[in-house]
Amino acid sequence: LSPGTAEGYSAAARELSRVFAEREERYDAESLYPEANIRDLFDRGFFASTIPTELGGGGISLPQYIDVVEHLAEGSPSTALLYAMPSALVALAAIPREFVPAQHRAAFEGQMEWIAREVEARRIFAVANSEPGAGGRLSETKSTAVHVAGTFRLTGRKSFCSFGPHAHFFMCAARNGTGPVDAFLVSREAPGLKLGDRWSALGMRSTESVSLAMEDAPAEALLGYPGMLEGHNMRHWSTLAFAAVFLGAGRALFDAVRFTSAARSALGQTWLAEFHLFLEAAGGFLRDTAGGETWPLSAEFKRRTLAVKTFVTQGVAEHAGRALTLGGGSAYTGYGPVQRLVRDAVAGPLLRPPLPFAYETLNRELTEDEHA
Ligand SMILES: Cc1cc2nc3c(=O)[nH]c(=O)nc-3n(C[C@H](O)[C@H](O)[C@H](O)COP(=O)(O)OP(=O)(O)OC[C@H]3O[C@@H](n4cnc5c(N)ncnc54)[C@H](O)[C@@H]3O)c2cc1C
Repeated sequence: LSPGTAEGYSAAARELSRVFAEREERYDAESLYPEANIRDLFDRGFFASTIPTELGGGGISLPQYIDVVEHLAEGSPSTALLYAMPSALVALAAIPREFVPAQHRAAFEGQMEWIAREVEARRIFAVANSEPGAGGRLSETKSTAVHVAGTFRLTGRKSFCSFGPHAHFFMCAARNGTGPVDAFLVSREAPGLKLGDRWSALGMRSTESVSLAMEDAPAEALLGYPGMLEGHNMRHWSTLAFAAVFLGAGRALFDAVRFTSAARSALGQTWLAEFHLFLEAAGGFLRDTAGGETWPLSAEFKRRTLAVKTFVTQGVAEHAGRALTLGGGSAYTGYGPVQRLVRDAVAGPLLRPPLPFAYETLNRELTEDEHA
C-alpha cells in the first residue's frame, strides 16, 4: 500500500510538489480535476499513508502527515486538499483501540480492515459533512438517517463535497433517528444520491467540491460506531491539515512575489518581512500543535487545533491581499501564480470550522467564567 517510511512520504511529497506546480496553471485555468496528480499520489501509496502499518498502510504520525500536506500544497493547494480529506478520514483506523467502546471494538476492527482493502483498490472516500445554512456546525446537521430493515437510509442536502464525481464513497453526517449526528458511508452508486452541477468557484478550483442531494439513499454502513462524531475521532487531523494546505499555499505565494519590482520598494520590503515572519511563526505553531497529540485528546489540545487553523488560514488570506498589491498590475491582469494563489488563499477561512464559528468557539472559552 505505501512507499515505506514516513521519510519516504516527505521526500516523495517534495518531489511531487515540483511536478504538481508545473501542471497547476492548466488545472486551475480550466477548473479541471487533477487526474494525473491523483494518479501519482495513488501510485506512491499516499492515500494509504495514514492507515496503520498493521493494516498495510504507511502509519505516518500527525506531524509527518502535516509535513506532507504542506509540501504538496506548495505545488498545488487543491491537490493537497484532495489528499488531506480522505486521508484524515481513513486515519480513523489509527484511533487507539482502548478509546473505541468495548462493545463496538470487533466491528470497528473489521470495518477498518475493509477500508484498508478499499483504499488499496484505489477507492476514494470523500467527506460530505457540510450543509447549506449550517455555518460549519455539525450540531446544525439537518440530514437524517432512518434505520429500515437492517440498513440506514439517508435524506438531506450537502454542500462542498471535494472530489465530487470522482469519489467512490461519501462520508455523510446525518442525525441518527432521534440520537446523535453520526457518520455514514454512502456509495456513489446508491439509488437516491445525486451530485450537483459542476463546481465554479473563486479558488481551489480543481477540487470539484460539488453539492450532493440524498433522497432515501441506502448507506453501506455507519462509519465507526454510534456516537463517534461526538466521542473519540480524528477530526483534529483534518483541522490541522487545512492549516497545512494554506500554509503551503502561503509559502508558494511568498516565493511568487518576493522578486517582483514592487517588492523592492520600502513598503514592499516591510510587507515581505512581515509575511516571512508570519509564515515562520505559523509553521512553528502548527508543528508544535501537531506534535502534542496524546490520547485521550485534551480540551486544551482541541482548542489549540482550532486556534492554529484559524491563525494560519486567516493570516494567509490577509497577507494574500498585500501579495496581490506587491504583484502589481501584471499579477492583477495576467494569469499566473500570484493571481491563482491569492484566489486559493481566500478559501482557507471558509473551511471547517469556518472563521465566524471558530471565533465564536474560541471567544466563548476565553470569556467563560471558570467559577460559574
Ligand atoms: C475549497 C473547499 C472545499 C471544501 N470541501 C469540503 C468537503 O470535502 N467536505 C465537506 O463536508 N465540506 C467541505 N467544504 C466546506 C467547508 O468545510 C465549510 O463547511 C463551508 O465552507 C462552510 O460554509 P458556510 O457555512 O460558510 O457557507 P454558507 O452557508 O454560504 O454561509 C454563509 C455565511 O453565513 C454563516 N452561517 C451560515 N449558517 C449559519 C448558522 N446556522 N449560524 C450562524 N452562521 C451561519 C456562515 O458562517 C458564513 O459566514 C469545503 C469548502 C471549500 C471552500
